[in-house]
Amino acid sequence: MKNSFIFALIIFSMLFIIPTVALNYLENKIGNTNSSTSEDTNKSSSEEQNDKDNIQLSSSEPNLIKVYNLKTNEVMVIDLEEYLKGVVASEMPAEFNIEALKAQAVTARTYLLYKIKKFPDGQPEHLDAPICTGTHCQVWNSKEDLIAQHENGWYDKYWGKIEESVDSTRGQILTYENKIIEPLFHSTSGGRTENSEDVFSTSVPYLRSVESPYENNAPKLHDSAKIPIGDFISKIKSVYGDLNITPNNLKEKIQLGSVSEGGKIKSLMIDNKEVSGREIRSLFGLNSTNFSFIQSGNQIEIVTTGYGHGVGMSQWGAAGMADEGYNYKEILKHYYTNVEIANMK
Ligand SMILES: [Zn+2]
Repeated sequence: MKNSFIFALIIFSMLFIIPTVALNYLENKIGNTNSSTSEDTNKSSSEEQNDKDNIQLSSSEPNLIKVYNLKTNEVMVIDLEEYLKGVVASEMPAEFNIEALKAQAVTARTYLLYKIKKFPDGQPEHLDAPICTGTHCQVWNSKEDLIAQHENGWYDKYWGKIEESVDSTRGQILTYENKIIEPLFHSTSGGRTENSEDVFSTSVPYLRSVESPYENNAPKLHDSAKIPIGDFISKIKSVYGDLNITPNNLKEKIQLGSVSEGGKIKSLMIDNKEVSGREIRSLFGLNSTNFSFIQSGNQIEIVTTGYGHGVGMSQWGAAGMADEGYNYKEILKHYYTNVEIANMK
């Protein structure tokens, strides 16, 4: 009797720990906004871009762009490269290696142009501008707000570095088969990024699962939280109805469904009901869908690896690669499969 219980416990543990273990061999607050930025931007990625309409922007001249400012509820008209400095400073810690900041600058420029091309007349959520200043698009803050948000001396210490990241990559964008890409990114992959179709609905050729081995400094690489087992069960039941789950049968009733190539949980079977990893992430407010449940006494410990949706560039992975000596082009080409770094026309 005791043996069978231990066996069940081992199976239970294995089911939930496998995704974590699978990643371990490979090897925020980064803009806390990053995962939502990327998730939001992907909503429209199923629609192919029309590459016929060339964007009339030049890398050698000032370009005024329209940006919807969520703080003032007004459309700003601002120089493209100046705008990018406010994005890089908002989306990535300025303490990061300059090569990681340059990679972020190129993704920020690429994302802006992707939006301009896709929504030349403004997008549904903000009709007067193709891009906004919030997590819905990519975060931008004014210099004044950035100074207010950071410790004394931040501007003098880091603004030159932010400017360098943008100026030294002026006009550079990412393309795949001569089309501007949608450069999704996230904070911390947990060791391996995701195929786009495993997180969103669409398979995108340049958003493939790749290793991300240099994330050891990421503050949210590993995280855990404990909740009372009663709360754990009632939370699941509140969403999925009166499932037959109790503290005594959780080990049998919660089974692993499928795991993505990136090592994250795509689905679980809870009392024979299929539940997606994303739903569980949302239900319990988890950092990622790479999670495991550990039952001990009257508590469930939920252990997570990584932070964000895991698609595209890992920002902490980019910082780690930069510290290892990779330059921004190598970083971008690592996280975005078969892309080119092109110049705006
Ligand atoms: Zn927006």
